[in-house]
Amino acid sequence: MKIQTLKCVAYLAALLGLAGPAHAEWVRRVTDGIMGTRITVELWSEDQQKADGAIDALLEEMRHIDDSMSTYKPSSEVSQVNAKAADGPMRISKELFDLLVTAKEYSVITDGAFDITYASVGYLYDFRQHVHPDEKQIDKALPAVNFRHVLLNPKNQTVQFSQKGVRIDLGGIAKGYSVDRGIDVLKARGFTRAYVSAGGDSRIIGDRFGKPWMVGIRDPRKGEGEVITRIPLVDAAISTSGDYERFFEEDGVRYHHIIDPHTGHSASKVRSATIIGPYATRTDGLSKTAFVLGPEKAMEIYNRIDDIDAIIVKLDGTVIYSKGIEPAPRHAPSK
Ligand code: ADP
Ligand code: MG
Repeated sequence: MKIQTLKCVAYLAALLGLAGPAHAEWVRRVTDGIMGTRITVELWSEDQQKADGAIDALLEEMRHIDDSMSTYKPSSEVSQVNAKAADGPMRISKELFDLLVTAKEYSVITDGAFDITYASVGYLYDFRQHVHPDEKQIDKALPAVNFRHVLLNPKNQTVQFSQKGVRIDLGGIAKGYSVDRGIDVLKARGFTRAYVSAGGDSRIIGDRFGKPWMVGIRDPRKGEGEVITRIPLVDAAISTSGDYERFFEEDGVRYHHIIDPHTGHSASKVRSATIIGPYATRTDGLSKTAFVLGPEKAMEIYNRIDDIDAIIVKLDGTVIYSKGIEPAPRHAPSK
């Protein structure tokens, strides 16, 4: 066959979807009920069985993280820490220890806006049952909120709370972390094109054959399918926090699941914040900040961090962008 003809056959095969190994395709699975949220996995695979095995292993990893870190499970390692760490140093798993170290780093980076000890007050809220603490309860619990109360000793791999009443909750970082661990599982099995999300935290490896993945950012005041914009992404993580997740209203006050560690009240200074960066642990750990510090102060912090970008929907519905993704200003056409 002439080269020209060969090229022609290859082109036709590509058009018919026959290029590459047989049966290569996008495999997608949606699973509910891990970490109280929806897990979506999509990957490019040349072998359906291999894809199924990898997704099973990924979900297993996420279930393990849920079992170890959920505060809803009394047997979890985190629940054990909450029950005992005020009594003295407690040896914990390497995985939990490392994530507690990371969580503390985010408290420092965000001027204390991200703080896993928010739970010392946060446990008094139940957004499903529309329960919130009164001022007296908040005043009493608030002194226990401070990430500095969590004492970590790397030598012995122990955690200790410096006072009674301290509680931690990793709900603001564990989903991002589980997405990163899930991506690790896929990478270890040789997958190079995949999307993994747990609720509002997602990460992507590779592209869609020359095209980016398009990830929508939900409009905070509209239905689930309504987006304010779509972001093209390749090899990146993205997390969105919104005041429309887990909330109720009472006497004109919106109670929702992000808590200001300084006041013990819902942090309501923006409607939503989306962070784009290299890892989902990182983007998850940073997406709460805008709610606590407000759009300007938070954007200052986001702009200071080299490897992340941010999109914030302010209370009036306007959208602001970090320097790296600011839409180009419209110039008048030059004459
Ligand atoms: P999702 O749970 O859908 O990923 P977010 O990433 O916005 O949503 O995380 C919200 C969760 O973060 C809350 O449900 C709570 O567990 C936790 N959280 C609330 N306030 C804080 C805070 N100030 N610092 C750290 N974590 C917080
Ligand atoms: Mg999150």
